[in-house]
Amino acid sequence: MSSALTTSTATAATATEPAIVFDRVGVTYRRGRTTTVALADFNLRVAAGETVALLGPSGSGKSTALKALAGFVRPTSGAVRLAGREVTDLSPAKRGIGVVVQSYALFPHMRVSENVAFGLKAHRVPRKEIGDRVREALEMVGMGAYAGRLPRELSGGQQQRVAIARALAIRPKVLLLDEPLAALDAQLRQSMLGELQQLRKALPDTAMLYVTHDQSEALALADRIAVMRDARLVDIDTAHNLWRQPATEFTAAFLGGANLLPCRVNHVSGTAALVTVGEHTLRAEAPLPGVGRPDWVPDARAQLCVRPHTVRIVPLTERDALRGTVITAVWKGAVTRLHLSVAGIPGELTAETPGHTELVAGDQVGVRFPDPAGVLIPPGIGTDSATADPEVRA
Ligand code: ADP
Ligand code: MG
Repeated sequence: MSSALTTSTATAATATEPAIVFDRVGVTYRRGRTTTVALADFNLRVAAGETVALLGPSGSGKSTALKALAGFVRPTSGAVRLAGREVTDLSPAKRGIGVVVQSYALFPHMRVSENVAFGLKAHRVPRKEIGDRVREALEMVGMGAYAGRLPRELSGGQQQRVAIARALAIRPKVLLLDEPLAALDAQLRQSMLGELQQLRKALPDTAMLYVTHDQSEALALADRIAVMRDARLVDIDTAHNLWRQPATEFTAAFLGGANLLPCRVNHVSGTAALVTVGEHTLRAEAPLPGVGRPDWVPDARAQLCVRPHTVRIVPLTERDALRGTVITAVWKGAVTRLHLSVAGIPGELTAETPGHTELVAGDQVGVRFPDPAGVLIPPGIGTDSATADPEVRA
C-alpha cells in the first residue's frame, strides 16, 4: 500500500525531511536529432504544509519539474525525494501524489463519483471505504451534489473542481497543480483562486507545488515563489521579499512589470543610497549584501527597480516635478497605464495612475518618483542571454 494512505508511519526521519526535495535534477528531452534541456541543475525543497509556486514564462521548464516529481518524466540526472524517500525510480501510482492539470483530464464516459473513485481503486482502498472517501473529497470542493453527472454535463470550473477532488481523494501528502486555472475565464479564475485558498487552509499538512505563469495566482497562493527561466531556477523567496526586493532583473520584470532604470551608485549608508539616474539624483533602497547581492560601492552600476504604481502623475507646475511626455495612455479600468518619456531619464517610464485620465499621446505632465524611488538590483544577473536558448541541435 502507498505510504500516502497510512497515517501511522510518520517517523522521526519523515518529520525532519522536507516533504519534497529536488536534488540537482536535470531533464533533457531527445527528439530525433534535437535535444532540449528542459530542466538544469534544479534544486528545491518544500516543507510539509508549505505551498511553493513555480512561476515562469511558457517553456521555462515548470511542467517538466512537476512531471519529474510525479514520475511522468524520468530525470536525466539528479534525484527526487518525498519525505526523505528517494522515489526517482518509482512508478507514478506508487508515489501517492495528487496531480491536477490544466485540461482536467477526466474520463468522459465515467460519472463524477467514478472519476473520483478511480484513483482510490488504483491505490487499493477497501471497497467499503471508497464511497465515504469520494463524498468527502467532493464536499471539499463544493461538488457533493454532482456525483451522478457526466463530465460533459458540467461547466469548466466544475470539471476542474472534480479533478481536484480526484487528486484529494487519495489524501496525498503532496499535491501538484499544473496551471489548474488556465483554461477558465477571468471571472471564474478569481473565484476559484479564493476556493483554492480555502482548500489550502483545509489541508494544513499537505505540501503543494503550484505551477503557473500568472504572477497574481502565485502571489495569492504561495508561501514562497520559485521563479524559473530557461530550465533554471533564478530566484526563490517569499512572495513578499521577491516583490519588495527582487534579486534579479528578470524577477523584477516578470513579477509586477517593474521599471528598471540604469543607474550609478553615489553614496550608501546602511540600506539607504543616493543614485544617479540620467541627469537626476534619487534616493534608493539598497538591500544588504547577501546571496547574489553585491556590496554596493560608490560608482557601481546598478538598476533602479521602480514599480509603475508608485510613480505619481502631478500638475506640471508642481515644485520639483519632472517633466514627462505621454507616449501612450491605456485605461485598464481601475488604473490608467502610461508610457512616458521623462526629461533627463533615459528610456521609457511606465506609470500606473488610479482611475481614468483624459491624457493622450503628446500631453505634458509632471512626474514624481516616490521617496525612496525604488530598490537597487545588481545589473545583468538573471538576464544572461548565454543561457536564453535551451534548444541545442546535436
Ligand atoms: P513550461 O511548463 O514552463 O511551459 P515545459 O516544462 O513544458 O515548460 O517545457 C520546457 C521545455 O521542454 C520547452 O522547450 C518544451 O518545448 C520542451 N519539452 C517539453 N516537453 C517535451 C517533450 N515531451 N519532448 C520534447 N521537448 C519537450
Ligand atoms: Mg507547462
